[in-house]
Amino acid sequence: MTLEEAQKQVDQWVKTYGVRYFSELTNMVVLTEEVGELARVMARKYGDQSFKEGEKDNIDEEIADVLWVLLCIANQTGVDITDAFRKSMEKKTKRDNKRHINNPKLKDHGRE
Ligand SMILES: [Mg+2]
Repeated sequence: MTLEEAQKQVDQWVKTYGVRYFSELTNMVVLTEEVGELARVMARKYGDQSFKEGEKDNIDEEIADVLWVLLCIANQTGVDITDAFRKSMEKKTKRDNKRHINNPKLKDHGRE
């Protein structure tokens, strides 16, 4: 699935089952909530917290929830994510093409 297809699929779903988009500001709040849910799983899986009884490692689900709301916000603000993401990659490549390679902290960290 391309990003364009994902945007269209979300739009179709909202129009079929969701009646209409939540307002842009509501979706911004929902995005924050979903990022918080992802953060909770990250804190338990990679951080010092442990899973409570009944909680599970559902990072995949939480990342998809974040993406879902982002796609909604893109749709309702007229953003073509395919184009915006391409521009973002170009910007990062131009700006950071030596920055991380020359960062000794990234080499000495010992992570694979
Ligand atoms: Mg969630």
